[in-house]
Amino acid sequence: MSITSFHPPVRTLMGPGPSDVNPRILEAMSRPTVGHLDPVFVGMMDEMKELLRYAFNTANELTMPVSAPGSAGMEMCFVNLVEPGDKVIVCQNGVFGGRMKENVERCGGTPVMVEDDWGVAVSPEKVEAALKANPDAKVLAFVHAETSTGAISDAKTLSALAHEHDCLVIADTVTSLAGSPLMVDDWQLDAVYSGTQKCLSCVPGLSPVTFSQRAIDSVTSRKSKVQSWFLDLNLILGYWGGGGKRAYHHTAPINTLYALHESLVILQEEGIENSWARHQKNHEALRAGFEAMGLDFVVPEDQRLPQLNAVSIPDGVDEAAVRAALLNEYNLEIGAGLGAMAGKIWRVGLMGYASNQTNVLFCLGALDALLSGMSAPINSGVAVEAARTAYQ
Ligand SMILES: *Cc1c(COP(=O)(O)O)cnc(C)c1O
Repeated sequence: MSITSFHPPVRTLMGPGPSDVNPRILEAMSRPTVGHLDPVFVGMMDEMKELLRYAFNTANELTMPVSAPGSAGMEMCFVNLVEPGDKVIVCQNGVFGGRMKENVERCGGTPVMVEDDWGVAVSPEKVEAALKANPDAKVLAFVHAETSTGAISDAKTLSALAHEHDCLVIADTVTSLAGSPLMVDDWQLDAVYSGTQKCLSCVPGLSPVTFSQRAIDSVTSRKSKVQSWFLDLNLILGYWGGGGKRAYHHTAPINTLYALHESLVILQEEGIENSWARHQKNHEALRAGFEAMGLDFVVPEDQRLPQLNAVSIPDGVDEAAVRAALLNEYNLEIGAGLGAMAGKIWRVGLMGYASNQTNVLFCLGALDALLSGMSAPINSGVAVEAARTAYQ
């Protein structure tokens, strides 16, 4: 065989995730591997829990990273909180709400769907009506930041409605964590999962989660065993729980955890509010550029995620060819539309480390050049200047 080491190109990642990884994080990953029960490592785990509480704005004791990507955090929330026969109100306004429904069904629960159009926030009025019509519902589940469309929902209001009707709240914060205000305790979110490769700028492969006391009480009073051995909170608590007695459950992804630790240290250095503000500022500059160019945003202005900008594709443009040219000529990745939005939109991410002025100007310049070169119906040569003005 003549296979040699793999050396990927250096890309700029401005899609829906993974986002550019801060070089400090890659360096942290290359530090020496220690045993997962080594006292030095256990000390790092305790710091990690504290740093995650800071990022989530919570005092929840049970705050930790699941050793698998965001989808596993999702699954952990559902398999622990949903027992066969439980009714769960699931909000869907994009791809990820559909995965929640799938999770409920696989747990033997009954999903009650609250559907909104792709590209808008979840409607609190519809959620309230569903809660009233289903007084036996146990959980309300929604996606805070829908990465498939770029819409943010009012997590605080949705959660308040759920608690008025005695429901627990499962919230997907994979794309919102560190990019948009997220207050787990103030908003009383009970089971919350996120990811590392979006606004935390970390490598993919871990899912930070946090559980309220209400959620833990619900898990410990289950009638049936959690059907997933790997994701059973009762077992994982023996490793990540307090008390300093760490029992072997599975081998933690040691070096990936170094990466997350470093990413959270960077977040703490910047300050979580400053991180939110940076995402907003770069979004506004990108928006100025897109609007000058004549590209329309999919999501109404007051429901837009700063870290995920979904814009419609100009008439007659082969959107896949543009993305391929960005990748091949500029080493720049942007996202395609997903599901119902496939072929209709581009998704430009400004997540974490990638949310910076250089990337905004680079992306606008590259798109302007490519679209102008194919005589697409845009205003040529004005996008970069509009963004530069927005920064001044
Ligand atoms: C990316 C994403 C996920 C899934 O995370 P993975 O790390 O890809 O498993 C779930 N929900 C939302 C909203 C996401 O953006």
